[in-house]
Amino acid sequence: MACASALFLSACHPPALGTTITNVRIIDGTGAPAVSGSVRFIGDSIVAVGLVRPARGDSVIDGGGLVLAPGFIDTHSHHTGDLLAMPEALGAVSQGITTIVGGNDGGHAYPLAATMDTLGKIRPSLNVAYYAGHGTLRRLVMGDDFKRKATALEVDAMAVLLRQELDAGALGLSTGLEYDPGIYSDRSEVIALAKVAAAVKGRYVSHIRSEDRDFWDSIEEIIAIGREAKLPVQISHVKLAMLSLWGDADSLVAVLEGARAEGIDITADIYPYPYWQSTLTVLFPARDFADRAEANKVLREIARPEGLLIGHFAAHPAYEGKTVAEISVMRSENAASTLMGLIREALVWEKAHPGRDGESVVATSMDEPDIVKLMQWDQTNICSDGALDGAHPRGFGAFTRLLGRYVREQQVMPLETAIMKMTSLSAIHMGIARRGTIATGQFADLVLFDPATVADHATPAEPHRVSTGIVRVWVNGRTVWRDGQTVAGRSGRVIRRHAAP
Ligand SMILES: [Zn+2]
Repeated sequence: MACASALFLSACHPPALGTTITNVRIIDGTGAPAVSGSVRFIGDSIVAVGLVRPARGDSVIDGGGLVLAPGFIDTHSHHTGDLLAMPEALGAVSQGITTIVGGNDGGHAYPLAATMDTLGKIRPSLNVAYYAGHGTLRRLVMGDDFKRKATALEVDAMAVLLRQELDAGALGLSTGLEYDPGIYSDRSEVIALAKVAAAVKGRYVSHIRSEDRDFWDSIEEIIAIGREAKLPVQISHVKLAMLSLWGDADSLVAVLEGARAEGIDITADIYPYPYWQSTLTVLFPARDFADRAEANKVLREIARPEGLLIGHFAAHPAYEGKTVAEISVMRSENAASTLMGLIREALVWEKAHPGRDGESVVATSMDEPDIVKLMQWDQTNICSDGALDGAHPRGFGAFTRLLGRYVREQQVMPLETAIMKMTSLSAIHMGIARRGTIATGQFADLVLFDPATVADHATPAEPHRVSTGIVRVWVNGRTVWRDGQTVAGRSGRVIRRHAAP
């Protein structure tokens, strides 16, 4: 029968009612064993899971016996930084990430209401949630006069701004206490602000005050913040980043378990690499960059000169991709002089280019056995700490590295546990609703991948090499990644705290 008029068009070509992904091993994100079956979704929501037959008119996708998991949730992400320029978020979606949480390390794009409005219009390929950054608020209130404790009035002013950002939808408060300006705050300032987040059932995430020299004091501090402000606290990218701390993972887990037994909801996230990325300045907590004894200590105990790889160096781009050891040969000086000299030159450049970063470094400071033990802790979820255009390979490979290197090759945990640590545990730690598991009523954020081949390929030398084995990714029911390419689904949403039940 021919279609005579537009009225009957829908009867001739009925629109797909929904989508059914058949022939998959469903790993639902809860940690439960994989089951064979199908998953059906309509629009943005999952409507059936398990022994499901496609409905008439459904588009049917044969999953080929691969694993279907909830989309990965990246609880500590810097992918937000370039999202307006790169809304298809290649580095993130290609490793199976469907939700990113920004505003970490004490910094966020202020004011959040405007940031979220802009993102809502741009519609990136993944979902985005934010924390409100303490450092951002501290700068707004104290300006350049931040190298001191804040007065009571200044803390009050920060609290007002924080409340505004929480009302805009921030998940809670983030701090970066190893960075300027957060490093100059005292504990009472942070607790006062954490209480503002606690009052609206928000959370606290922290790049703690020290990941090396003053590590144990910093752990005691985040526990105290959880105890006194009475809110969930999460250690961002937990690590033991100093030679003398190597081997202390068991002791750390014992301390954290002790705090949990006391009733403090302390958790952590981690990225699966033995090297971090930051600025060279962070290596000098007293901020005396001309202190030669300190420079020698850094190179002896925190990162060797050959383990300090310069990612970005605006004043002299020829140094990019070289280690401090190599640069010291180029400059015919010892490594400590090079370390101090690079910081000095970067600071001069930054002074001439306000608001821009003069340098970045990838530094090898962690030990593999510690990384494994910390990622195995029941309360640790996986994060990337990565960026869309960063110098650290985690921006393109953190989640696939866990699945390939640590789960398949080293078998440090079952696949179902790894998926849980990328999905439901992450959603719980962030307070994100309706995501992180495959179940009826959840949003259709899904990843189809091959557990036999999934692998990361990004390295410090080639940080933007795309992972393999992630076959297809859906965000809110629409495909955003397929067969090695981004698809302009652009179906991501802004996730606001008060949208949670
Ligand atoms: Zn950090």
